[in-house]
Amino acid sequence: ISSGGLIVYAECNVDSNEKVVQKSRSDSGKKKIVVLGTGWAGTSFLKDMDISSYDIEVVSPRNYFAFTPLLPSVTCGTVEARSVVEPVRNIIKKRSGEIQFWEAECLKIDPENHKVLCHSLVENLVGENDFALEYDYLVVAVGAQVNTFNTSGVLEHCHFLKEVEDAQRIRRTVIDCFEKAVLPGLSEEERRTNLHFVIVGGGPTGVEFAAELHDFVHEDLVKLYPSVKDLVKITVIQSGDHILNTFDERISSFAEQKFQRDGIEVLTGCRVVSVSEHSVNMKVKSTGEYDVVPHGMVVWSTGVGTRPFVKDFMEQIGQGKRWILATDEWLRVTGCPDVYAIGDCATVDQRKIMEDISTIFEAADTDHSGTLTIEEFQDVLEDIIIRYPQVELYLKSNQLFEVTELFKDSEGNEREEVDIEGFKLALSHVDSQMKSLPATAQVAAQQGSYLASCFNRWEQCNAKPEGPRLFGSAGRHAFLPFRYRHLGQFAPLGGEQAAAELPGDWVSMGRSTQWLWYSVYASKQVSWRTRILVVWDWTRRYIFGRDSSR
Ligand code: FAD
Ligand code: MG
Ligand code: MG
Ligand code: MG
Ligand code: MG
Repeated sequence: ISSGGLIVYAECNVDSNEKVVQKSRSDSGKKKIVVLGTGWAGTSFLKDMDISSYDIEVVSPRNYFAFTPLLPSVTCGTVEARSVVEPVRNIIKKRSGEIQFWEAECLKIDPENHKVLCHSLVENLVGENDFALEYDYLVVAVGAQVNTFNTSGVLEHCHFLKEVEDAQRIRRTVIDCFEKAVLPGLSEEERRTNLHFVIVGGGPTGVEFAAELHDFVHEDLVKLYPSVKDLVKITVIQSGDHILNTFDERISSFAEQKFQRDGIEVLTGCRVVSVSEHSVNMKVKSTGEYDVVPHGMVVWSTGVGTRPFVKDFMEQIGQGKRWILATDEWLRVTGCPDVYAIGDCATVDQRKIMEDISTIFEAADTDHSGTLTIEEFQDVLEDIIIRYPQVELYLKSNQLFEVTELFKDSEGNEREEVDIEGFKLALSHVDSQMKSLPATAQVAAQQGSYLASCFNRWEQCNAKPEGPRLFGSAGRHAFLPFRYRHLGQFAPLGGEQAAAELPGDWVSMGRSTQWLWYSVYASKQVSWRTRILVVWDWTRRYIFGRDSSR
């Protein structure tokens, strides 16, 4: 404890704190942080970490960061694979060599002994492939893996769009499909099958890929393969009623109309039950009938799942029954001190206000009168909102601008004070406003930099807690909990058109939005090198078209 920091997490159990103190894991006397993963969350954490106070070791099976929002563009050669990746060693070299990187995969987390077991994927390595690292703090930022929902044939016959290698493979396969379709001796039916591209999943990634592919086919490939240009077909299979159903309705119907004009078939309300080498078997929900669709290539893009070694870790710490690793609002893994999880591999378990309602009431009732006056409540409201953001959402969505309105009785009369039962009633619907955060780069990056700022200010905050009152336990928390700021989201729809949903319920669609997309994605690049490469790729495509060699 003397070396600072740990008291902040007074909520964690004390035994484990002692355990950490016994083990000084680095020669410098600094605490050692091991980071797993170099994606959006991990990289943003590393970029914001003040390395003077910690020893940092990073483990990832890929020695680069991939700018995933541009992967759909890589599938069609609009942007080159090299332009969307940045070597991790480039990112950390600016940190004067204090951050160490190991290219390896974590196989197991051993929270009991504060250790991770890793395995280098390099084949024919001279020496050992396996090694163990000890940590004082562990940051798990390993992202998620594709989810096949145990659908048979998916692993064997579908492409995924998750990694850079996937995008490169898709690009080669698209071109192969055209080369196959023009071979002599094929029937028209066979040519059609080879040129039927099926996308399973109508979320942002599937839709963007469909749009990219449509542009690639109609702007470049039909000129090179004129004999088969009328045989190409792109189909999006979506189990829900609409594509892009996480977006505003206006965007979702704009996308559907654009796809209809472009001749991209959208099959909604269909669930794929199996995939074989040349066909997709699906169930039409409305009729209950099965339908077989022949295909040349399938891209599977339906949601994400937990990595097996994370699942194993969850079982060790009593989270075995959950689908996804849970953290509290400070991004600490629930049930496991000193381990943090950020990005797609975890979800923030929002605290329900109803669980704490009695302690809040007691803490707020400063005169112990057994009733809460409006003034007493207003005193704690700010701290409540920090910990339970759903209260603010509830007030907003019910257009309540004054707390007094919460205190109204069942007849709508204002009350000066409420007892515990009245207080419970007033807040009883608040928890219905809780929303889990989406699995996006935006969330991952914000979590990474939030966590870095906590580590950076650890000692200072520990001395002077600035955070919200923690109802129930005395005192304040040293840090504000993580709060996500939604900056909007884009859906590129091909043909130089895009749709965007911006904060403040603002929706914009069309060509100008595509320009906004170009500028936002250029500015979000991690380095000037990739920024210039990406902008050059866009320019090159504009002048010369896409490259169609495989
Ligand atoms: P990742 O970025 O996936 O990083 C995980 C890291 O962990 C990787 O470095 C990986 O190599 C490493 N790793 C994996 N296994 C291990 C292991 N065993 N041990 C150690 N390290 C390991 N989001 C948006 O906000 N906007 C978009 O436009 C957008 N477009 C997308 C397009 C595509 C095609 C895809 C696939 C995703 C897109 N996303 C987008 C989502 C976004 O990419 C993810 O939400 C984001 O990558 C999550 O970040 P992360 O750090 O949690 O995981
Ligand atoms: Mg990461
Ligand atoms: Mg990434
Ligand atoms: Mg998450
Ligand atoms: Mg009182």
